Amino acid sequence: MKFLDLAKVHIRSGAGGAGCVSFRREKYIEFGGPDGGDGGGGGSVWAEVVDGLNTLIDFRYQQHFFAQNGQPGRGQQRTGRDGEDIVLRVPVGTEILDEDEETVLADLTEVGTRVLLAKGGNGGWGNLHFKTSTNQAPRRANPGQEGVERTLWLRLKLIADAGLLGLPNAGKSTFLAASSNARPKIADYPFTTLHPNLGVVGVDGAEFVMADIPGLIAGAHEGRGIGDRFLGHVERCSVLLHLVDATSEDLAGDYRTIIDELEAYGGHLAEKPRVTALNKVDALDDEMRAEAKAELEQAAGGPVFMLSAVTGEGLADVLRAVRAQIAEDRLRTTKAQEEPEPWQP
Ligand code: GDP
Ligand code: MG
Repeated sequence: MKFLDLAKVHIRSGAGGAGCVSFRREKYIEFGGPDGGDGGGGGSVWAEVVDGLNTLIDFRYQQHFFAQNGQPGRGQQRTGRDGEDIVLRVPVGTEILDEDEETVLADLTEVGTRVLLAKGGNGGWGNLHFKTSTNQAPRRANPGQEGVERTLWLRLKLIADAGLLGLPNAGKSTFLAASSNARPKIADYPFTTLHPNLGVVGVDGAEFVMADIPGLIAGAHEGRGIGDRFLGHVERCSVLLHLVDATSEDLAGDYRTIIDELEAYGGHLAEKPRVTALNKVDALDDEMRAEAKAELEQAAGGPVFMLSAVTGEGLADVLRAVRAQIAEDRLRTTKAQEEPEPWQP
């Protein structure tokens, strides 16, 4: 099972600027002395953890990150300008791996953390720096140091914003597939297609990550490594969506089974806000719908959404209800749906 988002990036820090060989030349001043300035330092490449990202998708569009070179020093003791740094903005939970894809260079778990990936080259000394008591007119300067070029991997254990609950056959996979497909712009994003237990879900121009939880819990109990490790991240999700199969004989019983399992699992999962939906309502007539809804609402002690993952009925309402429980700063806005600014003279 794969719950990893992976991106390969090529980075290069800036080279330092060369030092300058120059002598002070002014009317009436003899032996003005060396005045070649130092080269500026090259820009460095950093990674910084920022809020509000939950995938590495941006690195699918840009893989090369080159910081600026330093400017060379000049005469009249002028130091070259430093090259600008460049910062890779990554989500919480990103690991930075060396080119071998194994050596972990950094594990970024907190917003605001910054790590240096490639230091900019030092600027070379100008000849001003080489002046000594015995050599008052040095004709030497240092070249700037080269920048550092590296290939790195970014690896993210995806953090689920929403967890999906339900008995086998409740329609969780169908639901994930249906809601993830609603985003044609990045439909080729691997998690929407390759992994049935995880989806990047889009609604009203916002995106969040949804994961199928019972599958994970079962996996963890059987000691399947990655399930274990991933559970920690699922525990951070903001909301649970509980799907109940409307065609079942015992709606209340099905509902309880899951809630009992949730409470038995412990942790904070049981305390999360929940959205409950009756799935497969397309298979019910109006009378059966009303009956089923009343029964489940009684069991759940709250409102129940009517949903069909197959026909798409009620899908948007469910997604909105889930989205409403996710803090705004964890949502990603999809660029595709941003309205362009109206033109004004
Ligand atoms: P999961 O085990 O919870 O992942 O459930 P699946 O998504 O695999 O769905 C189980 C079965 O229910 C599949 O045969 C689906 O086609 C069917 N199913 C899922 N959602 C709906 C729905 O909204 N309406 C109907 N009629 N069938 C559905
Ligand atoms: Mg499934």
